[in-house]
Amino acid sequence: MSVPRFYVAMPLAVGVVTLPEDAAHHAARVLRLLEGDTIVLFNGEGGEYHGCITHINKREVTVQLERFEETDRESPLAITLVQAITSGERMDYAIQKAVELGVSRLVPVTTERTTIKLKAERANKRLEHWQKVVRSACEQCGRNRLPQVAPLTELSDYLSAHDGDTIWMLQPLNARPIRQQPKPAAGLTVVIGPEGGFSEAELRLAQRHNCSAISLGPRILRMETAGPAVLAVLQSLWGDWQ
Ligand code: SAH
Repeated sequence: MSVPRFYVAMPLAVGVVTLPEDAAHHAARVLRLLEGDTIVLFNGEGGEYHGCITHINKREVTVQLERFEETDRESPLAITLVQAITSGERMDYAIQKAVELGVSRLVPVTTERTTIKLKAERANKRLEHWQKVVRSACEQCGRNRLPQVAPLTELSDYLSAHDGDTIWMLQPLNARPIRQQPKPAAGLTVVIGPEGGFSEAELRLAQRHNCSAISLGPRILRMETAGPAVLAVLQSLWGDWQ
């Protein structure tokens, strides 16, 4: 079994630390770890601390951190995923997979054909929830830096505010295959639309901002498939191991 990893929002150093409540709960009640078990802690500032549990009960867990390892497992390609929001579980899945596949930044957006509406308060709650999904995906996949989740925004506002960025609008039809694209210079942004696709107005706006229309093939993928698929292709062409 791989060593359990915990994200903790606190400064870390070699020595003794007490786990915050949620990490302690996860260690003691969910994973049922024992004294002497090895664990890894990271706080998102880069690198990870290896240590072992010195004391554990249902309320308190203390850990002796023995060494720091300066490893991040980040991709050299900075990819921003702009993702049209969808219902709870499918959006969580899209976010979890994007983190596993090395996305740098996530931008949830509403589009003209987005069917779910989130009022400000609920949007903030969703944002907190998505950040939690990001943290657990980082714990699981070994990333020590947390990809940022931007607050919910309108696709048209995002495009207008990011003129000049390399932006790919993912579309099944009337678009070019990825392998005809030149290697993106620094980072790039990929935009995944809602189940109804982008509206004509959004496509015209994207064109005015010089976005490229890119296709992953002739089959229509669900939005939660399109994100992981494009990220896997990008990592293999220009990211991880390149
Ligand atoms: N009916 C829509 C498809 C929506 S699928 C249409 O014809 O455009 C949801 C989103 O997934 C799309 O907006 C697109 O961003 C992405 N997508 C699905 N299949 C794709 C493919 N083969 N190539 C590129 N992007 C795709």
